[in-house]
This record gives sequence, C-alpha cells and structure tokens, in this order.
Amino acid sequence: NEEAKAMKGALQYQEMTVEEVYTPLDKTFMVNVDDRLNFETMSTIFKTGYSRIPVYENDVHNIVGLLFVKDLIFINPIDETPIRNFVDIFGRGANVVWLDDKLGKVLAELKKGHCHMALVRDVDEGDGSKDPTYTVTGIITLEDIIEVILGDQIVDE
Ligand code: ADP
Repeated sequence: NEEAKAMKGALQYQEMTVEEVYTPLDKTFMVNVDDRLNFETMSTIFKTGYSRIPVYENDVHNIVGLLFVKDLIFINPIDETPIRNFVDIFGRGANVVWLDDKLGKVLAELKKGHCHMALVRDVDEGDGSKDPTYTVTGIITLEDIIEVILGDQIVDE
C-alpha cells in the first residue's frame, strides 16, 4: 500500500545518489542567453510546461543562470527582449551538487536554497595528462527526490 511504499522510500532515498535520479543535460530543455524572447521562443518555452529553464552561454555545459517561466507574464514578445536582460544570473550561487552525492544531503541543500533546482556537476578526468575539468552534466529538482521517497511518479501540480 501507499504508506508502506513511502516508508520504504523514506528509508532508501538517503543512500541513493544523484546519478540515479537526475535529468541529464541532453534531456534538459535549455535556452541560449543570446536568444530573444520573441513569439517563437516564448511558445516553445510554454509548450515544454517546465517552470525553470537553465540558460547557457556558448556551450550547453556553461550554464549561467535560470529563467523562471512565471516571470514571462511581464514580457511582450513584440519587444523581442534579449534573454540576457531577463535571466536570473547566478549570483553567489546556484545549488551545485555532485553526481555521486547522496540524496539525503541534496534534499537538505535544496531546502536551504531558494530554488528547488540544482545543477549536477561531474569531474572529467580526460586521459589523465591534464588537470581534471568540472562540467555540468544535468539538473536535479526537489521533485526528483520526492518521487523516490513516495516510491512513485507523482502527479505534477
Ligand atoms: P516543473 O515544475 O518545471 O514541472 P519539477 O521540478 O516539478 O519541474 O520537475 C519535474 C521533472 O522535470 C523532474 O524530473 C525534473 O528533473 C525535470 N525538469 C525540470 N525542469 C526541466 C527542464 N528545464 N528540462 C528538462 N527537465 C526538467
């Protein structure tokens, strides 16, 4: 039954890792900071149904901020507002977590932050001849963790 499933999920999620539940970048809907909020971009964004859209510059691994879709009600597509003027640039910090972080820790961090989404970072060791580089490989949201705890796909709000 539901209670038993939630109990089991609540016991298990803390030891599970980001890697098991996150959304990889190739499945993440993002926009380019150099795009404009015209009819086309805005309708694409609305059709996705997502409430937070990562914004990248030059390269999808270089995420510079977030677009909150609810803020778009103030935007007139006629103005073709540059996304750059509108995006919430990460100031002191986006939540950033590691691919092998435990979900217990991530949940605590997401609760502390003001945004229920974190960027997932991984180390790229390369062939070992250079210093390792860090790259963003995806996103994780509060909902991804709650789904584990409830042991179910939850219906979106
Ligand atoms: P939303 O409020 O936008 O529906 P949630 O935080 O409820 O987003 O997350 C629902 C699922 O969608 C999660 O699996 C999350 O990782 C994923 N998700 C959230 N935003 C995006 C996005 N911009 N692109 C792709 N997947 C996303």
